[in-house]
Amino acid sequence: MTSSAATLKATSPAVGARIEKIELATGAEIYRLMEKLYPICRSLTGAGQRETLAILRQVIDLTIHEVPSGTPVFDWTVPREWNIRGGYIKDASGRKVVDFADSNLHVMGYSMPVHRRMPLSALKAHLFTLPDHPDWTPYRTSYYREDWAFCLSHRQLLEMKDGEYEVHIDASLTNGSMTYGEFALPGERAEEILVSCHICHPSLANDNLSGIAVAAMLAKYLSSVPLRYTYRFLFTPGQIGSIAWLCRNESTVGLIRGGLVLACLGDAGGFTYKKTRRGDALIDRAVPQALRDAGQDCKTVEFSPFGYDERQFCSPGFNLPVGCLMRTPHGCFPEYHTSADDLTFVRPENLGESLMRCRDIMRLMDGDRTLINLNPKCEPQLGKRGLYGSIGGAAGGRDRELAFLWVLNLSDGEHALLDIAERSGLSFAVIDDAARELERQGLLAEKE
Ligand code: ZN
Repeated sequence: MTSSAATLKATSPAVGARIEKIELATGAEIYRLMEKLYPICRSLTGAGQRETLAILRQVIDLTIHEVPSGTPVFDWTVPREWNIRGGYIKDASGRKVVDFADSNLHVMGYSMPVHRRMPLSALKAHLFTLPDHPDWTPYRTSYYREDWAFCLSHRQLLEMKDGEYEVHIDASLTNGSMTYGEFALPGERAEEILVSCHICHPSLANDNLSGIAVAAMLAKYLSSVPLRYTYRFLFTPGQIGSIAWLCRNESTVGLIRGGLVLACLGDAGGFTYKKTRRGDALIDRAVPQALRDAGQDCKTVEFSPFGYDERQFCSPGFNLPVGCLMRTPHGCFPEYHTSADDLTFVRPENLGESLMRCRDIMRLMDGDRTLINLNPKCEPQLGKRGLYGSIGGAAGGRDRELAFLWVLNLSDGEHALLDIAERSGLSFAVIDDAARELERQGLLAEKE
């Protein structure tokens, strides 16, 4: 099977032939999508990936790619395909004390198949629990080392008496392929904005069904609005997926002008933005501005070569301007990578707010442009054009007048609209509106 033969072609709407305006999904709609995806056992590869992407295809017309096991991708190799049908630990009486059917977290991801009897003392080397949170089951994987294990609550472990147990993991690790989804929305320009999320976690909600669901709904929304940039959405297994995508698309990644990795967007915490490796990319300024304009706090943290797929996008050989938007970052909430990161941990209102902010960020990225004042010698007379003084104390009137003056003053070809918003302290939307009005009045023209 070749990767091209296994690629499902999807059609994206052509520029100028966009479908009717789609309303931004509500938090409840995002949450419903998460509910559909939650029960699926995902991993780096396997049936869970395909089932997940098939559900996302009901939202957006994804292209689904299959990369054969064994394919070299830079210093890595696409792993064998892992599929699991079940797994349990039975006590001497034949009672299942741990069962994959109860939670897909119970079997460590990428566990080798096993079926044997062993005493508890030996079995313990293959059991993971969280003594500090005795009711929670941890999430563990063993992607690149052949091993097997069960994850269970510490309370379950304490109830297991000494004696012999039967362990069975009905899984397979075979040559197959790694699956990922891609959705491109052509804009006026070939330059791209990238949005990426990881789709390799089983029943975990915040990390990262929240990122997947928000990304899908953002893509759906953007498919109905005019776009300057081309937008590309990636739904890939963590790390190996982005490595494979970068390897397969190396010749065109130079088109990427900005991007965001989306993760952990459903919890109640405030926003955290992790900057790009460059630290001064457009996205590094667009995210704080968009959140400030929405009256929302945003903690900004510097880049580090740890975390999600920004590690790969920002590796030195690519150094792409891709940051990461989260609410509470991975590892900073106790529920992270445990069974407590479930559907009760994320709230529709947080998801809805995250989607709105992602839309704002994209709107800002897309709307940032550089204009030139066509009447740069002294101020043009705004009053005679009905742009000045006529608003007479109307709420927001002063901001609007200030915005005209700022836009005219700084539109010397050296400053883009985001520069003007930052320097003036006005919102990007006010600056953008002023620029559009001045363009209509023939006072500004876009820089070629
Ligand atoms: Zn994770």
